[in-house]
Amino acid sequence: MSRIYNFNAGPAILPELVLEKVGRDMLNLEESGMSIAEMSHRGNAFVAIAHGAEDSLRRLLSVPDTYHILFLQGGATLQFSAIPMNLLHKHTCAAYIDTGAWSQKAITAAKKYCSVDVVATNVETKSSSVPDLTNLNITNEHAYLHYTPNETIGGVRIFDIPDSHGIPLVADMSSMILSEPVDISRFALIYAGAQKNIGPAGLTIVIVRKDLCGSSLSITPDVIDYAQQAKNDSMLNTPPTFAWYMSGLVFEWIEQEGGLAKMQKRAIARAKMLYEAIDMSDFYRNPVVPKYRSLMNVPFLLADDLLNDAFIAEAKEKGLVGLEGHRSVGGMRASLYNAMPISGVETLITFMQDFARNHHL
Ligand SMILES: *Cc1c(COP(=O)(O)O)cnc(C)c1O
Repeated sequence: MSRIYNFNAGPAILPELVLEKVGRDMLNLEESGMSIAEMSHRGNAFVAIAHGAEDSLRRLLSVPDTYHILFLQGGATLQFSAIPMNLLHKHTCAAYIDTGAWSQKAITAAKKYCSVDVVATNVETKSSSVPDLTNLNITNEHAYLHYTPNETIGGVRIFDIPDSHGIPLVADMSSMILSEPVDISRFALIYAGAQKNIGPAGLTIVIVRKDLCGSSLSITPDVIDYAQQAKNDSMLNTPPTFAWYMSGLVFEWIEQEGGLAKMQKRAIARAKMLYEAIDMSDFYRNPVVPKYRSLMNVPFLLADDLLNDAFIAEAKEKGLVGLEGHRSVGGMRASLYNAMPISGVETLITFMQDFARNHHL
């Protein structure tokens, strides 16, 4: 059986070299006589794998020593609550930028723990643009500013890091982490669910400034208390060992491929090709203002929604899978994460052009 081109938004495509290695390791990892999934997380073999993965991620993102890297569970969604629980400290209010569905989920979750000031929103553009982020109305009353650099559903990207006026800046990087270099020192905390651009589902990466950890709300469960997890090397309880191991292999793969600058170059090349094909056609349409278009998630609409099912079915015959748009917006979405080869985008574009020709209204 041959591999397909997987355009799913998450869980998503992973590098073939990594999958092959996992397959080879499955019955006997490093002469241990067992698989990664059967090993104690306290044993030397797993501890070495866990530290190796952390070191590799620290190198990739040039994470300063003043930051913890935590390997947690519960997805990015649990972080929507963990962030206010850990970072409110004495504050009762936090600032959020709303650029779409994931921002809004983060806002809704935070409201259980504090009041939320939405200091910028793109709702009046139906989440197809980025609001003005200069001179945000932020005060020292706000514990932190939260934003979502890449809206996975709307396909909207904030390229410039917003000015948080000296308060801690928090970013949900779930769908763009490791696709380009990031200046970590600009952030108080970044987090990402692994299943978009890192590895399998079940792991959540949190990179947080050490000085911000240690005075969480008293109701915070220990497993999402950053100071507790940091003290225990993210092994306060059984960590997601398989996802951690496999993510480590993905970090290694990225390093071998040339690092984040290389990932960024590829991401720009893939996205440029696809947006150009969409813009040149009168059959396909992307609703996002061009300078805010995501490099990772490309939503597009067909000239007639009634053709959606045929598009999906014919794409599948060509080995192009996972193109259904998010259930909340319809249409199509092609996710172009690190592991997507340029040949996948070329094959998709050729198919789209053929489909438009055959179904032109
Ligand atoms: C997928 C996604 C989430 C949710 O991630 P889970 O790991 O499923 O909780 C949150 N934010 C963004 C930007 C996402 O893309």
